[in-house]
Amino acid sequence: MIVIKNLTKKFGNFIAVDNLNLEINSGEFFGFLGPNGAGKTTTIKMITGLYAPTSGEVIINGLDIQKFPIEAKSFIGYVPDEPFLYDKLTGLEYLYFSGGLYGIEKSILKNRIEKLIQIFELNEWIYRLTEEYSRGMKQRIAIASALIHDPKIIVIDEPIVGLDPSSATIVKKILKERANEGATILMSTHLLSIAEELCDRIAIIKNGKIIFESSLKSFQKFTFGHNGNLEEFYLKVLSNEITDKVD
Ligand code: ADP
Ligand code: MG
Repeated sequence: MIVIKNLTKKFGNFIAVDNLNLEINSGEFFGFLGPNGAGKTTTIKMITGLYAPTSGEVIINGLDIQKFPIEAKSFIGYVPDEPFLYDKLTGLEYLYFSGGLYGIEKSILKNRIEKLIQIFELNEWIYRLTEEYSRGMKQRIAIASALIHDPKIIVIDEPIVGLDPSSATIVKKILKERANEGATILMSTHLLSIAEELCDRIAIIKNGKIIFESSLKSFQKFTFGHNGNLEEFYLKVLSNEITDKVD
């Protein structure tokens, strides 16, 4: 479970994230939706402990990530918007390296890596240096490595942007599967269609503030009064014509 309390991040005088409050329950697939520059990545970096908040707190499964960073981070699998890989490692070496960071026992790690290679259809690519990979293939390795310690919480920043269709299909499938198995998933996206396809609940963020929060079902129901057009409704929320919090 992720609990965010009065979370704020300032860069100089600029408020990138403005007093956010949010609870994401275990087993929930939560979509963090909003235009570019809304504050999604900054929020995610505070949730994953990469940025210290200017004020407020992030509680991961009961632990304040600022006070118990190592324990709290061990629950999380994080996939950044621009995955960082080591160019001179093969995909396989990178997965072993990531597993090693979590201190996973060798034989368990070997099994997990074999499964991940299958799930992500990495095939012979696994033996090639990651510098040779396409964006889709890099993203597949990044997600596989984020799942290596079987995290209960998956935080993924703009996963589908720039992915080829087969990578996008694989990524969506694995995220859905993990959610069905009970993982908590926080996914940011500026694409309404992706949120609609995957999420149970969404929050719309703009200028660092949550301006709308609801279950996807309510969000869809809500739009019937607005011609049933989700895209149109979303744009109205963003242009401040509609502000609400429904459940
Ligand atoms: P999103 O992920 O929703 O596109 P970001 O969280 O990346 O938005 O950015 C939110 C705002 O904060 C933007 O205006 C961005 O320019 C600003 N910002 C993000 N990171 C920094 C930083 N390290 N220093 C200064 N401003 C930043
Ligand atoms: Mg971003």
